[in-house]
Amino acid sequence: MSLRLIANWKLNGSKEFNQKWFRDFFKSYKVDDLSFLGIAPPSIYINHLIQLTSDHNIAIGSQNIDIFSSGARTGEISSSMVSDMSAEFTLIGHSERREFFNESDDEIASKINEANKSSLIPVLCIGESDQENLNNQTHSVLQAQINKGLKGCETINSLIIAYEPIWAIGSGKTPKSNEINSIHQMIKDVVQSSFPKVSLKAVLYGGSVNSENAASFFSEDAVDGALIGGASLNGEEFALIANIYKDLKS
Ligand code: PEP
Repeated sequence: MSLRLIANWKLNGSKEFNQKWFRDFFKSYKVDDLSFLGIAPPSIYINHLIQLTSDHNIAIGSQNIDIFSSGARTGEISSSMVSDMSAEFTLIGHSERREFFNESDDEIASKINEANKSSLIPVLCIGESDQENLNNQTHSVLQAQINKGLKGCETINSLIIAYEPIWAIGSGKTPKSNEINSIHQMIKDVVQSSFPKVSLKAVLYGGSVNSENAASFFSEDAVDGALIGGASLNGEEFALIANIYKDLKS
């Protein structure tokens, strides 16, 4: 599996929503290949989505995992449990978790380790705030997030990084596609030079991606795919983005 386009449903979904999403998706998806697609639903629906995708090669993942694999951690879900349900990846360190749940870089590093131990692909989310962007601190902020997030991680067989500027998430604003390209190149260089035992499979862009602007991002060489929030809630819109991806990246 080469995961390249991931839907982050956040706190959205129901059994009815999930079923309708696939009906809408398959009405508009023009290609046979589904192997580059992933969906991260709320964890309670992972099993439902695994059932709905049993005939299709779409990866299902979680939006978060705990820092421990078991124990007295009421309300948490471990990476081994996510893997046990046949899910294949997990988002880690999404900016909403960093902000609303005070997730620290140490916790993020532990989660990356946990995911790696259970053979889940960790999708490490990094991104600068509006103020940091205005202060031209984007590169240093991202480098620090990578260094802290991967601290103590020896060998990681498959890592995906999602570059998601916080100011672009859900705002309709995005950096210019050539700026995203050079930031992705920088991310690849940092991982390669500082973490030679980490196998970075892809750098995805996230932040207000939709079927209108996707082509401009996917035309850039260092943009390997996208993590999509709002626009991924509509199966038809996600299919349109997937069609564009296939046209430009195959
Ligand atoms: C996200 O939150 O991961 C995201 C990319 O959201 P949106 O596409 O809505 O900006």
